[in-house]
Amino acid sequence: MVATPIGNLGDLTTRAREVLGAVDAICAEDTRHTRQLLGALGIERPLLALHEHNEAEMAWKLVERLKAGDRLALVSDAGTPLVSDPGYRLVREVRAAGLKVVPVPGACAAIAALSVAGIPSDRFCFEGFLPAKSSARRERLAALSREPRTLVFYESSHRIEESLADLVAMFGPDREAVLARELTKLFETVLGDTLGGIAEQVAADENQRKGEFVLIVRGCEDDGEAKLLEGQRLYAKLAEHLK
Ligand code: SAM
Repeated sequence: MVATPIGNLGDLTTRAREVLGAVDAICAEDTRHTRQLLGALGIERPLLALHEHNEAEMAWKLVERLKAGDRLALVSDAGTPLVSDPGYRLVREVRAAGLKVVPVPGACAAIAALSVAGIPSDRFCFEGFLPAKSSARRERLAALSREPRTLVFYESSHRIEESLADLVAMFGPDREAVLARELTKLFETVLGDTLGGIAEQVAADENQRKGEFVLIVRGCEDDGEAKLLEGQRLYAKLAEHLK
């Protein structure tokens, strides 16, 4: 399981480069994307497509190849495989067959963002992507609003504004948060503010809506805040009914 860069080619470790150059084939989420990376590294290896839709079917074929003695690497488009990316079914099958799975660790956007957020990181919940539809998103956020641990979300440019608006609605505007954008890339920015403040900055500046995002949100601090949120939620529900 080989971690690849999340933006900067220099994110790739020396060990990852060696492994990618030495394996019999590389399983990749998007072979065109990985071919570009390998091209930049001067590596030529056979590529096999392994994505959400063919993973179950590919897994047993790959297990057969491993049993026959082949060495295979799995990479995703960016960062660490299996983190909001395909691979866990394959790893499960390989391990169930008694074969070895080796991590070749490296970049991961969630961890990179946590490392610069300055928000308690001793315990955190990785939530990945929020649901695409606002109703489902708000439901998920309602379930998380009293979580005391730091929350880590992934978000894309298409939904960053909507998701921030729902976070403000469900968690209140005053919760501390950090929005990490385009990490390790040319336009890397790290905005630290309240949720309301970040939502305003993103709404006001088109550039802040471009690229890839990790949002780190401080956990629910105390019982007082939790009760206030519960009250706000009940009030919103009541107001909806009375419309
Ligand atoms: N496996 C990857 C990892 O280890 O971070 C995550 C893959 S997930 C499909 C892609 C999401 O990760 C993006 O939508 C964004 O939320 C986040 N992401 C990836 N690269 C990023 C970067 N350079 N800066 C900020 N967020 C990034």
